[in-house]
Amino acid sequence: MNISTLIHSTHRKKFNVFPEILKKQKYHLIEKNSAVKKCRWLHKSLTENKVCYKQKFYGIQSHKCIQMTPTLSCNLKCKFCWRAHPTDIGIPENLKASNIDPEILVEKTIEAQRNILSGYKSQVILGKIDKKKYEESLNPCHAGYKS
Ligand code: SF4
Repeated sequence: MNISTLIHSTHRKKFNVFPEILKKQKYHLIEKNSAVKKCRWLHKSLTENKVCYKQKFYGIQSHKCIQMTPTLSCNLKCKFCWRAHPTDIGIPENLKASNIDPEILVEKTIEAQRNILSGYKSQVILGKIDKKKYEESLNPCHAGYKS
């Protein structure tokens, strides 16, 4: 096996493993390069009535806010960034290429958030989470972008 075949196969293996690692970390993947993850303030807002500073300062209600990224891999690569870039850890460059239609991305993001929220239904039934607030959370209108 020559070196380019070896590198290519190593990249392919990592490419296949990468989504699994993210899923284990509770990312809800949207196609190859976008994801939603439950924000701890969404959880705290529903279960403890505690909210993110953006609710206090800007009125962005934590229970209606989605923590998401449209791009799992950085597409800027600023010179002094401390983060590992995809190619540093063997993730192929083409992971960045996401051609998802923005409207579909928004729809799938909301769908992923509703999936996350479905885990709270039993607490709503038990009266531990306010029903009205829970219903509001099913129609999110903010997104906190994470890079
Ligand atoms: S702005 Fe960010 S931290 Fe605040 S509730 Fe939204 S996703 Fe969470």
